[in-house]
Amino acid sequence: MNNPSSQAERPASQDLKSLMLPELKQLIADMKEPEYRAGQIASWVFGKGVESIDQMTNLSKTLRTELHKHAHISQLHLTHQSKSRRSPTTKFLFELEDGQTVETVLIGGSQRNTICISTQVGCAIGCRFCASGLAGLVRNMTTSEIVDQVIQVRRIFGERRPINNVVIMGMGEPLANYNNVMQAVRIINASWGLGIGARKITLSTSGLVPKIYELAKEHLQFELSVSLHAADDKTRSLIVPINKRYPIKALMQACVDYVTTTNRIITFEYVLLQGVNDRFTDVKNLGALLRNMKYKLNIIPYNPVKGLPFETPNERRQTAFIEALHSAGIKVTVRRERGRDINAACGQLRLEREQATG
Ligand code: SF4
Repeated sequence: MNNPSSQAERPASQDLKSLMLPELKQLIADMKEPEYRAGQIASWVFGKGVESIDQMTNLSKTLRTELHKHAHISQLHLTHQSKSRRSPTTKFLFELEDGQTVETVLIGGSQRNTICISTQVGCAIGCRFCASGLAGLVRNMTTSEIVDQVIQVRRIFGERRPINNVVIMGMGEPLANYNNVMQAVRIINASWGLGIGARKITLSTSGLVPKIYELAKEHLQFELSVSLHAADDKTRSLIVPINKRYPIKALMQACVDYVTTTNRIITFEYVLLQGVNDRFTDVKNLGALLRNMKYKLNIIPYNPVKGLPFETPNERRQTAFIEALHSAGIKVTVRRERGRDINAACGQLRLEREQATG
């Protein structure tokens, strides 16, 4: 049986992968060491991705021993990796220290690579077309677990596939784990951290309106992507249930506020589901909704999930929908399916593994 007090009795040990440079400096100051040591530690943890404090060979033995008393480095464990035969997509299943699993995907070629990372184990939002939401939310991921997905994949591929873009669109609703995610993106972005430019980092949300306002106030240069998927409340509530709490009008007001406050554009994601949101009335509604907005609309033909009742529109229907969007003056990009042969839709691999072992 778990002892509820065991957590409190354990000596406080900070996870170095979750600390910002000022926090590392504080840790070092508390140990009466010179400040430059914090930069050395950040370089070992984030730059070189070491697994142990003992690998920090430019720190004295005494400092390493002292550091062991106050800090540790957590690790994700790779349990599965599959490479698509049809596209340059690789999917990873990582085990967390409590045995939970999360998915990470690397998409791209030799020089331009985008990593898609998870922020929660499971998801409470329950979008009807998504495998991640099927079993609900298990827990938020920690800052270090979020950051470590990038460190681990970078370690696997090194310079062969450098990571240039980070999209926070894997399992979970990022803005529902706001503090841990914000700390993680700051570490991923920082020059002393993983050094990925703010405009190469995309945060996504299913539409948590209060958090969009909160994010706008941070005045950060990260990209924001909103999962729209429908332009009328009836359809959107059916496929993205959070719409019942934050309907389209409230969502769009928050988006306008974000664009005005940050002077950034928003990308609206639109998963194309046959017979659900690929009708000509949807084009008309989208045109009305996006008028006067600074936006980009990203159409994603659905990647089917076994057991879910949605289908991908055929090529002819996809083309007709996209041409109708163009004719209506809507700025649109299309993200073609990638990795269908390795279950690259969010949450699918984890679900399949759980069904196989459970
Ligand atoms: S699409 Fe995203 S927000 Fe919706 S259930 Fe899946 S993981 Fe959650």
